[in-house]
Amino acid sequence: MRVAFISDIHANLEALEAVLKDIDGQRVDEVICLGDIVGYGANPNECVEIVSKRCPVTLLGNHDAAAVDLLSTQNFNIHAKIAIEWTSKNLKKESGQFLKSLPYKSLRPPMTLVHATPYEPNMWYYITSLEEAAFNFQFFDTQICFIGHTHIPIIIVLDKNKELYVHQDSSIRLSDVEGARLLINIGSVGQPRDRNPKSCYGIFDSDEGTFFYRRVAYNIEKSQMKMKRSRMPEFLISRLEDGR
Ligand code: ZN
Repeated sequence: MRVAFISDIHANLEALEAVLKDIDGQRVDEVICLGDIVGYGANPNECVEIVSKRCPVTLLGNHDAAAVDLLSTQNFNIHAKIAIEWTSKNLKKESGQFLKSLPYKSLRPPMTLVHATPYEPNMWYYITSLEEAAFNFQFFDTQICFIGHTHIPIIIVLDKNKELYVHQDSSIRLSDVEGARLLINIGSVGQPRDRNPKSCYGIFDSDEGTFFYRRVAYNIEKSQMKMKRSRMPEFLISRLEDGR
């Protein structure tokens, strides 16, 4: 089984289309979406429609939840708040219904899937340190947990000796870390924040026992132009080209 994981699309249609085109050349069996289809970008309905058709499994992200009033924006920064208000106003009824139907978590051994954290996935915590990662390893039983939410791709390994470390490569072979458990953040399609503006997604091949990231260039200027027309905050527009 070969699965492509996409996450944090954030209504960036140009990025989503470029990533799906790249996935078409990767012989995958299915595409799974870990949430945040909307928020920030100018094409929420188009992105929801594509993901709903393409992904047999899609999780709820915090921006998705906020756009359909399942979550208050009180903890969002001002830019995110403005984007969510615009998104809620422009979301079609069918798109909203789809987002409301999404789960927080999916268990597909050997994988656990969540948008934010395996510990209370409905609380939208972040994993930004090894301490937080160590804590979260206690809250899933499978070998691997795939997450999104921070927009920063990272592979964290808990090896058979219970040593915890960050894997320093953009691919990993399970046979090289036998007995280890993994927490993998698959990065962001529509708003990468690791100083690389290219879209990020990941492919897990359970037969070969491999995981690797793909980076995909897309038409950033076109996405930015649409955001300008939708009067999104300048900060959200400029961060796309910086990947931050
Ligand atoms: Zn996000």
